[in-house]
Amino acid sequence: MNELNQPLSGNAMPRFGGIASMMRLPVAESAAGLDAAFIGVPLDIGTSHRPGTRFGPRQIRAESALLRPYNMATGAAPFDALQVADLGDVPINTYSLEKSVAIITAFYREVLATGCTPLTLGGDHTIALPILRAVAERHGPVALVHVDAHADINDDMFGERIAHGTPFRRAVEEGLLKNDCVFQIGLRGSGYAADDFDWPRAQGFTVVPAHELWYQSLAPLMTRVRAQVGEAPCYLSFDIDGIDPAFAGGTGTPEVGGLTVPQALEIIRGCRGLNLVGCDLVEVSPPYDPSGNTALLAANLLYEMLCVLPGVPLR
Ligand code: MN
Ligand code: MN
Repeated sequence: MNELNQPLSGNAMPRFGGIASMMRLPVAESAAGLDAAFIGVPLDIGTSHRPGTRFGPRQIRAESALLRPYNMATGAAPFDALQVADLGDVPINTYSLEKSVAIITAFYREVLATGCTPLTLGGDHTIALPILRAVAERHGPVALVHVDAHADINDDMFGERIAHGTPFRRAVEEGLLKNDCVFQIGLRGSGYAADDFDWPRAQGFTVVPAHELWYQSLAPLMTRVRAQVGEAPCYLSFDIDGIDPAFAGGTGTPEVGGLTVPQALEIIRGCRGLNLVGCDLVEVSPPYDPSGNTALLAANLLYEMLCVLPGVPLR
């Protein structure tokens, strides 16, 4: 077991000390030999309203310092079986969204070529498109569990085809998704048109608005998701604004009436058994997160994603 990386224990170095890598894991130069890697994408130039997600990866890493290796609720023991490290950040070009998108795809292409599963710390939701391009190159069209207040299927924003509200429109056009295995969970808020959520349904997506989930366990929904997706390669894209701003207000486009933290945990824990080939947690904006609670939640959700990857044992 000793050959596998372990999060630095709070008994070896105080949790407020040491290098602030994700979960205090070793930082790796390359994905070679890794089963899974945390990767930051410090991008916020695709955002439409409140900026700041460029600081997301760094703040999520800082708040991840309290995370311990074993999942006491589910029994998951990721570090008993997987080789995991922090791969640092993708060196995006903060003056060019177009160039950044190309840089991200190239970076993920290289990571995926080694067989490593990426767990991404965003960054605004634009990054899902270049990541999905690389993922589909390797795995073919993927199933998608997409948690968000927004469908992110705009045709354009301010005339731009690439932005944080368009990635899943482009993904459909480019054939990156298995449309009948796409689940959009937590959608809500006001719209530009009354039929805003009809376009994804017309593509074959399953749209589950937040208000249909109020006061409920999401375990039954996730049973449906697993039955529909089966063995297909599946990507999990989690926009923190899917969760109610009472718990995760540090984000760019908050919408009231969102998911609770236990519901978010049910979604991710309900992904166990899916053939997950990548996950992201996007839209954490530290300048709007003075308490750090949003980043703390994001760090925990990324850990939960690690805990449901294929091959993680339960103790
Ligand atoms: Mn989004
Ligand atoms: Mn959103």
